[in-house]
Amino acid sequence: MQLELRGVRKTFQGRGGEVLALGKLDLVIPDGEFVCIIGPSGCGKSTLLNILAGLSAPSEGEAYAGGQPICGPDPSRVMIFQDAALFPWLNVQANVEFGLKMQGCAKAERRERARHLLAMVHLEQFARAWVHELSGGMKQRVALARALAIDPAVLLLDEPFGALDAITRDLLHNELQMIWMQTGKTVVFITHNVREAVVLGDRVVVMSPRPGRIVAQHIITLPRPRQIEDVATTQFTRRILEDLQLKEALP
Ligand code: ADP
Ligand code: MG
Repeated sequence: MQLELRGVRKTFQGRGGEVLALGKLDLVIPDGEFVCIIGPSGCGKSTLLNILAGLSAPSEGEAYAGGQPICGPDPSRVMIFQDAALFPWLNVQANVEFGLKMQGCAKAERRERARHLLAMVHLEQFARAWVHELSGGMKQRVALARALAIDPAVLLLDEPFGALDAITRDLLHNELQMIWMQTGKTVVFITHNVREAVVLGDRVVVMSPRPGRIVAQHIITLPRPRQIEDVATTQFTRRILEDLQLKEALP
């Protein structure tokens, strides 16, 4: 599903007056693309993602999904946050089944689909486990399986691996790339980790400090699946770091 922002600006009413979070922003994300958006903390990355999710409306400009104006949240576009936000009163299997249950999907089909997705994220052994028994990486895997269960066209991820240790993050980078290659979904992945952006993205969009604007874009042509230690990622990483530092040095 193609996503599009046209002339989008976003202001918030702060205590000290109006805060311009997003400057004028134009962005087209074609169907099936894996886009990483990178920028310094507070530059409006979450604001941008919330607009794509339909959780927040632009102050100016328009947002479209599949050619239709975004007027609110929709099951075709799911969001995954840094803290997995799983339901602690449900076990792993029931968490994954939750969205399907809400959609009235029959029990046998739910079971089967959850089982398939838990295998996809390598958690088939943990279907009966409770959320508090899982590590951070396992929780994010469940969150991913839960999001995929309702088969959305678009995955919106807001720094989903930011709180994980490096080894777990590398594993999840592999899994997410595999899942994306198998499902062909449109993915918008927010991060402030340059290497992560280069490993995951078809394209890396670089934002300026607040008010967030797009200051550079890089098409990452490296073959997949990519790993963080691949030497070839370094040249892209270096260029993106230059983009970020250059802009940070400006007044
Ligand atoms: P990022 O995700 O890049 O760290 P955010 O999109 O969360 O940045 O925030 C961008 C700016 O907008 C920040 O200055 C933040 O304080 C402000 N902001 C975000 N959400 C709100 C809100 N609901 N009310 C007021 N200000 C907000
Ligand atoms: Mg954020």
